[in-house]
Amino acid sequence: DAAINRIAAGEVVERPASAVKELVENALDAGATRVEIAYADGGKTLIRVTDDGCGIVPDDLHLALSRHATSKIDGSDLLDIHTFGFRGEALPSLGSVGRLTITSRVDGFDAATIRVAGGETSVVKPAALSAGTVVELRDLFYATPARLKFMRSDRAEAQAITDVIKRLAMAEPHVGFTLRDVSGGGEGRVTFRADPETGDMFDALGGRLGSILGRDFSDNAIRIDAERDGLRLTGFAALPTYSRGAAVAQFLFVNGRPVKDKLLTGALRAAYFDFLSRDRHPAAALFVSCDPHLVDVNVHPAKSEVRFREPGVARGLIVSGLRHALASAGH
Ligand code: ADP
Ligand code: MG
Repeated sequence: DAAINRIAAGEVVERPASAVKELVENALDAGATRVEIAYADGGKTLIRVTDDGCGIVPDDLHLALSRHATSKIDGSDLLDIHTFGFRGEALPSLGSVGRLTITSRVDGFDAATIRVAGGETSVVKPAALSAGTVVELRDLFYATPARLKFMRSDRAEAQAITDVIKRLAMAEPHVGFTLRDVSGGGEGRVTFRADPETGDMFDALGGRLGSILGRDFSDNAIRIDAERDGLRLTGFAALPTYSRGAAVAQFLFVNGRPVKDKLLTGALRAAYFDFLSRDRHPAAALFVSCDPHLVDVNVHPAKSEVRFREPGVARGLIVSGLRHALASAGH
């Protein structure tokens, strides 16, 4: 089983940022309103995610670490997914590639902690924690020197972590996020912070985009809200006159999940084809939502690609939705 976990881990955890993504998604699935992420040395020596979500009862801590144990779907309909997680693979995988400690408390229960390292799981012990969950991953890939070698500089890994957090922060504007570099020990240095946004979806997203991309983006972006054949497109897109230079600021989400998808980025570029030169990227944060049966998010364990049942409809919606909004704004 330890070997199987290690093989699965290769699929789920490529680098510190993929571990951060899994842990923060778990926090969000647990209904957290605030998530705090700390890392040291680009996440190579330490990643710690603290949330105020529902927690895990002591009796379930072992289960959380077993493969394919998920509390999120009953297995009857793999396509009907409303949470980030559904495979029950992340925690066992992380426990096979690093030293993992989970401490958690559910209202009405005592706080408890469990550790796993090198495939060996400890007994559940009492712990001190007032609410929520703290997951700590130390020494990622310590037992796999070949994988360690493939990690990039601390700076590059920290940048990848920040990118993951920003995308998830856009996906969940009502949740507060704090990212800290604790490489030097102690409280460390806050490298990214987004306070919980209030209001309806557009208000909250607008506020969050302002705090992540800057007022300059918000002031130059238009609201997108379009629909076609059961697919809805919402979000904000920059006016063609807005330029971030070479910096790419494209953030795409499908059913609330950050994705990096060629079909969608291609459609975004096509919508701006008449306005932008080839080396300029339109800046946008766009959310496609639809019945979960119209899109497969199950393509890859890292889950950043998607497959639409009708790709032409998704592309058409983006191109026409954006062109229409740009035309209404006088472009
Ligand atoms: P998945 O997210 O696909 O269910 P994971 O391996 O990521 O699988 O997590 C396993 C289980 O552990 C989850 O289904 C959930 O019940 C529990 N869990 C993990 N992280 C948290 C958390 N931060 N708060 C509450 N429960 C959690
Ligand atoms: Mg998960």
